[in-house]
Amino acid sequence: MSPPTDTARYGVPQERDWNALDDETFRALVREDFETHYPLAWRFPPRRLRWHENRDWYLRMAAKGWLAPAWPVAFGGMGLSPAKLLIFFEEQERCGIARFQDHGVQMVGPVLMRYGTPEQQRRYLPGILSCETIWCQGYSEPNAGSDLASLSTRAELDGDEFVITGQKIWTTLAHDATHMFALVRTDPAAKKQEGISFLLLDIRTPGVRVRPIRDIAGTEEFCEVFLDGARTHRDNLVGGLNAGWTVAKSLLGFERIFLGSPKMPEYGLLVLESVARARGVLDDPVFRERLLTLRMDVAHLADIYGSYAATVARGEPLGPDVSLLKIWASETFQRIADLIVETAGPLGGLTGDVRIGEDSVNLLAPFYKARVPTIYGGSSEIQRNILARQVLQLPG
Ligand SMILES: Cc1cc2nc3c(=O)[nH]c(=O)nc-3n(C[C@H](O)[C@H](O)[C@H](O)COP(=O)(O)OP(=O)(O)OC[C@H]3O[C@@H](n4cnc5c(N)ncnc54)[C@H](O)[C@@H]3O)c2cc1C
Repeated sequence: MSPPTDTARYGVPQERDWNALDDETFRALVREDFETHYPLAWRFPPRRLRWHENRDWYLRMAAKGWLAPAWPVAFGGMGLSPAKLLIFFEEQERCGIARFQDHGVQMVGPVLMRYGTPEQQRRYLPGILSCETIWCQGYSEPNAGSDLASLSTRAELDGDEFVITGQKIWTTLAHDATHMFALVRTDPAAKKQEGISFLLLDIRTPGVRVRPIRDIAGTEEFCEVFLDGARTHRDNLVGGLNAGWTVAKSLLGFERIFLGSPKMPEYGLLVLESVARARGVLDDPVFRERLLTLRMDVAHLADIYGSYAATVARGEPLGPDVSLLKIWASETFQRIADLIVETAGPLGGLTGDVRIGEDSVNLLAPFYKARVPTIYGGSSEIQRNILARQVLQLPG
C-alpha cells in the first residue's frame, strides 16, 4: 500500500511509535486504557450494539487516534505491525469491547488505500477516521449469498452517474449507516465474476430505502436495502469498471484469523460453569465429562489459534487451512451455548436476564450469538469445501 500522494493530513497524530515498544509494554498500556475507560455496562453485550449506544467510546478512540489500528500512520492509523495489531485486538476481545459498525475502518478504508484514487482517499478517509461517516456492506442479495457472484443488482451509467436498481439483504446495521459500498452488476453479458463493479453510495440519497429485519433474538441488527434508481456519481467507482470482484476479494485477508479466535468459546465456558454451579450439577459425572470435553476442545483451539497468530505476527500470509480455525471456533461455541440452555433447565427458555443462583445471566444470549458465526464470513459448509478442495485436494 503506497502512502498518500498528496499533502492531505489524515486523522490525529500518534503519540508515539507503538512498534518501538516491546510487546508486553504495549499490551499493558492498551489493557490499562481499555480497563480504565471502557464502560463496565457494555462489556460482552448480549447483542450487537447500535451506534447511539457505543458512539461515545468510538468517538474517544477517534480523538485518541486509535480508531484504525491497522492503517498506516500516513493515512491516520496507528500503523501497528501484525504482532502489535494482534495484541490490540486480543485486548479488545479480552475486555469484551463491543464492536461498532466498523465496515469503514475494516473494509472501505483499506480498499480505498489500495484501489482508490487520491481524490477518493481525500474525500472518504477523513470521515471514516472521525466517525462522521458510517459504512455498511452491500454485498448479499436474496439470491446471492455464498454464491455472491450471481448478484443481480444493476448499475447503469446515465451521463456522469450510475443508476442503481436492485435489493441487498443482511446488511448489518444499515439503519445506522450514512454510506454503503456495494457490489453491482455493470455488465450483464460478461461471465458472472467479470461483470461486477464496486461502488460507493450515500444511502441518504433518493431511491434508497432501508428496512430493518427483526431477528429470532428480537433485535434489529440486519436490514434490507432497496435500491430504486438510486444515483451515485461515476467518481464513486472504485478499482475500475467491471473490476469489482478483484476489489472485493482483496478484503479477505488477515482478519480471517479473528473469526477463529477462542475468546467467545472461552467466554461461553465461564457462563456455562456459573450456570452449572447454580444448578448444582458441577459434580454430576455426566455433566463433568461433557464440560471437560468442551474445555479440552477450547484449550486445543487456543493452542492452534496461537500457532496461526504466530504466522500472522511474523507477517506471513495465512493459507486456506485457516478455514479449520473458523469451523472449530464457531461450532465449539455453538456446542457450549447449547449446553448452557440445556443445563439451565426450564430457565433456559427465558429471554433477557434471568436470576440464577447469585447471578443474573442472559442465558439465551450465547445461544443466539453462536448461531451467526457459522454463517457469516463464509458458512461452515463453504469452509469445509475450501478444506476439501484446496487443502485435501479432493475431487469435485
Ligand atoms: C451476522 C451476519 C452479518 C452479515 N452481515 C452482512 C453484511 O453486512 N453485508 C452483506 O452483504 N451480507 C452480510 N451477511 C450475509 C452473509 O454474507 C450471508 O449470509 C452468507 O454469505 C451466506 O449466504 P446466504 O445467507 O444467502 O445463504 P446461502 O448461500 O443461500 O446458503 C444457505 C445454506 O446452503 C449452504 N451452501 C450454500 N452453498 C453451498 C455449497 N456450494 N456447498 C455446500 N453448502 C452450501 C450454506 O452453507 C448454508 O447452510 C451477514 C450474515 C450474518 C449471519
